[in-house]
Amino acid sequence: MSRSPATEPGPMDLGLSERVAGLRDQVAAMVAEEIAPAEEEFHTEVDKGDRWKHTRRQEEILEGLKAKAREKGLWNFWLTDSDRGFGLTTVEYAYLAEEMGKSSLAAEVFNCSAPDTGNMEVLERYGTGEHKKKWLEPLLEGKIRSAYLMTEPDVASSDATNIEMECVRDGDDYVLNGEKWWSSGAGDPRCAIYIVMVKTGGEDVPKHQRHSMILVPADADGIEVLRAMEVYGNDDAPHGHMHIRFANVRVPAENLLLGEGKGFEIAQGRLGPGRIHHCMRAIGQAERALELMCKRSLRREAFGKPIAHLGANYDIIANARMEIEMARLLCLKAAWMMDRGDARAAATWISQIKVVAPIMALKVIDEAVQMHGGAGVSQETPLARMWAGVRTLRLADGPDAVHRRQVARAELKKHTQEKI
Ligand SMILES: Cc1cc2nc3c(=O)[nH]c(=O)nc-3n(C[C@H](O)[C@H](O)[C@H](O)COP(=O)(O)OP(=O)(O)OC[C@H]3O[C@@H](n4cnc5c(N)ncnc54)[C@H](O)[C@@H]3O)c2cc1C
Repeated sequence: MSRSPATEPGPMDLGLSERVAGLRDQVAAMVAEEIAPAEEEFHTEVDKGDRWKHTRRQEEILEGLKAKAREKGLWNFWLTDSDRGFGLTTVEYAYLAEEMGKSSLAAEVFNCSAPDTGNMEVLERYGTGEHKKKWLEPLLEGKIRSAYLMTEPDVASSDATNIEMECVRDGDDYVLNGEKWWSSGAGDPRCAIYIVMVKTGGEDVPKHQRHSMILVPADADGIEVLRAMEVYGNDDAPHGHMHIRFANVRVPAENLLLGEGKGFEIAQGRLGPGRIHHCMRAIGQAERALELMCKRSLRREAFGKPIAHLGANYDIIANARMEIEMARLLCLKAAWMMDRGDARAAATWISQIKVVAPIMALKVIDEAVQMHGGAGVSQETPLARMWAGVRTLRLADGPDAVHRRQVARAELKKHTQEKI
């Protein structure tokens, strides 16, 4: 009978290490005392000027908090398995990312936000010295931002072998033509670099070797940002999820990462950490929602009692706690599988948590919304924004169905020699 690598002998330590306990407390304190209280003002400012530029006040809030975090040394935790940064394990990072999930601004304050962390990982692993100097260093400093452009309007992008953006060698350059959408972060005026998944191989090349990743400066000639895609009516300005047209965009051939046909190899490395980081933060969001739900239900009275004591509300609160704990354990186990260094074995665990964490968090946030009555769906609490954000995680970085497919295929392969 086959065994899962996670059931091989050896300790599986998912606990909070001593070196991270102190960091976790510092991150948690800064999120609760300084970042979360600034959230509402930051988001309200968006409506006060050009939606696609930070107002002076937004800059003050964000850059002020970033400077404080850097001063305290709370910066770039995400870079696991590297000489740069803290050299934390993925399990250790999980405890910090969860805290950062509790405020929509926190990940950026600690320079640990998507999509930059995934993009920095790509530059760190596959970039040349020149790429690192030009793009990785300012990203690590929090001076510029980046976007990852894979999804296209005209093809089912959950199957990345469908990606069609044309990328043709012409002398010392590559020339790109096509459209991308849902390019998160490309609306941000600080977004300076795109990592773009393109098609470089024809039908004669094996399916997983037809694609490549290439660096494209956001201000390259021929790039046109057509519009911001909306998430339930919200354009997420100034971060934005942009629809972008490339018309004869020319970049030097050395901007191609790792070589033609290596797109899937790079994507494997990029998407694993990015996916699990989203899950860690989703667990933090569920924790915050549960906390808000409990506080509100104890404070507000109906039918002569605090709402907490009415109807099935104990069950709702208990279920939320139990579901958060189950998801956290699965997340830590997936992180531990990543730390063992076997990307293939870790992939199905990442897929499992990628399905479980957003569904769990959505359920908890939804119950918290309900317990808040009308205020729950309004701007009065962060819950509505949280729900919309987490809902997109069931699509972004691979829809649930695609991850379930991975999990099921790995399971079936244990019991058959047939190709699945
Ligand atoms: C807020 C947000 C941010 C995003 N950010 C980025 C980004 O920064 N960069 C980027 O490149 N993309 C980004 N995306 C895009 C996201 O990754 C894609 O939407 C996702 O991969 C699905 O691709 P698609 O939209 O083309 O859906 P399709 O490929 O058309 O899939 C639609 C549906 O088909 C079904 N389906 C697909 N495969 C299967 C299967 N095997 N079994 C059963 N059903 C299946 C599922 O229900 C799936 O949801 C973002 C999306 C959102 C909503």
